[in-house]
Amino acid sequence: MAATTQETTCLFCSLCCRAGVAVDDYGLTTPEYPGHGAGEHRGLCGRGHFISELLSHPGRLHEAAERQAGRIEALSPDEACQRLRALLPQIRDGLAVVLDGNLPCEELAEAVRLARAALEVDRVTLFIPPADEAVLRGLSTSAAPRLGPDALAECDVVLAVGDPFATHPLVASPVLDAVTRQRGNRLLNIDSLRGRTAGFATDFCQVRPGGEAAALGGLLRAMGAAESVPALATFEPSEAAAMAGVDAAALEAMAAAVAKAEKLAVVVSLPAGRCAAAAAAAALAAKVAEARNGGICPLLTYGNATGAWRLAHALHTTPLAELMADIAAGRVKRLLVAGTDLASALPQADLGSAELVAAAAPMPSAATARAQLVLPTALWFEIGGTVVDGSGTPRQAAKLAEPPGGALAPSQWLRALADDAAQADRPDVAAMVQADPQAELAEVIGSPLDWAPPAAEGKIAVVARADALGFADGALSRQLAWPVLMEMQPTVRLSPADAASLEDGTATLRSDGVAMTLAVDASDDVPPGVAAVSPSFPETRVLFAWAQGGVGPGLASMEKRGGNDG
Ligand code: SF4
Repeated sequence: MAATTQETTCLFCSLCCRAGVAVDDYGLTTPEYPGHGAGEHRGLCGRGHFISELLSHPGRLHEAAERQAGRIEALSPDEACQRLRALLPQIRDGLAVVLDGNLPCEELAEAVRLARAALEVDRVTLFIPPADEAVLRGLSTSAAPRLGPDALAECDVVLAVGDPFATHPLVASPVLDAVTRQRGNRLLNIDSLRGRTAGFATDFCQVRPGGEAAALGGLLRAMGAAESVPALATFEPSEAAAMAGVDAAALEAMAAAVAKAEKLAVVVSLPAGRCAAAAAAAALAAKVAEARNGGICPLLTYGNATGAWRLAHALHTTPLAELMADIAAGRVKRLLVAGTDLASALPQADLGSAELVAAAAPMPSAATARAQLVLPTALWFEIGGTVVDGSGTPRQAAKLAEPPGGALAPSQWLRALADDAAQADRPDVAAMVQADPQAELAEVIGSPLDWAPPAAEGKIAVVARADALGFADGALSRQLAWPVLMEMQPTVRLSPADAASLEDGTATLRSDGVAMTLAVDASDDVPPGVAAVSPSFPETRVLFAWAQGGVGPGLASMEKRGGNDG
């Protein structure tokens, strides 16, 4: 019999592509490309193929377990719920629940409701990668229309902040359609590395690590469009250019190109390790779009980041930054986490002495390795429901299959702990995810003096390479075949001049008590004084700085193996 194809929505980035999986008589799965060749000119990027691998991955967790005195005991779902229920009276004090935000909105809303009803906890956090949250916060200061990828093809000028062709490869097609449609159309690119997007840009402005917000502020001043941003009133273009590490003339040339746009799109891709002031950069990018009646296209790590962000505000959950402060201060003593792992996601943050009571996860992780109770969980395509893409449009992500073995959705684990009173009053999710909350521009923009971290004598700036295959913190994608084949170990990319000074092809980076020795690649994409590392390994993610609610470039000292400090 022929294989049957089922469709869902890919949540490995905010483009939320239609993704298909063909299932044959033996239950084997292969990726399918809905719409490809039928005028959409889009298929799936490398990450989209992960769905079919995850559906039948031998490493999926399908049994619960309890860790006691160094022994691990396998449990049925019922036994695991009984153990957790028995623990509740002892763990309620100082307990916080963290739910991964990359699940359908109905599932998230129900899990939040049940966590409050069943566990009686005040602190429930929907985890969204801090860089996504910062971009969404920045955009919530603006009424500039949100664009999906197809709208980009209609534009005559596209301003790309970051390296979207690498982080979100499927936007390359509509952007290149736009640029090649008519002579004079432009692709402008602001980025700290000379990446894939820069290779196609008509105008490239290479900023110093973390200089994106300063460059966008300077661009607004050079466009004569800064009156809507009071913080820019005294931020002279020359000061902005110096802070961004670019020539003022480069910003003026870009401003002249933007001024000629009849249909402008501003594309923002600022994942972890690129820009600590990502919220300010996103707000300024939206102001550039507004100044020309253009639109903005945010490219986020989580497919459902926008849905989770809207729900988090509607449900008044605890922001991640507040939770991390509570953990560091000892106000949160115990954690119950589902689908995410704070130690992998934010290895540079202080988790204090918080005890991990239970970790619900689809695959083994750093969290399941230290949790008292391990609960196997379903992935979004085993749950199904509403998600919200980067343009703010709700979509349906269909359930493709039942989760393996005893794996349950987080809300199913929590429902087993709830009493009858927890079965009522389901929230109206459709209404909650229709619109963004509004943020104050002045609060998001802050002071330009804080946008770019100061350079430090003798230190090298550590930025994230744009990653086409890794997903988020890598906890899931580092267990999949293709990402591992493409990058077995973390490496560091240096400018040819910096790399040539090394003696054995490795460099040791040291920062805040952490040291790691990495193999070095030389690349013209990287300017001198910058180290570009993969963001998919906790070993290298720990080098990024967590500040202002975002994860930006870090500073490290670099030792040349067998030689002198560099
Ligand atoms: S571009 Fe994004 S949504 Fe589309 S297949 Fe790739 S990861 Fe999935």
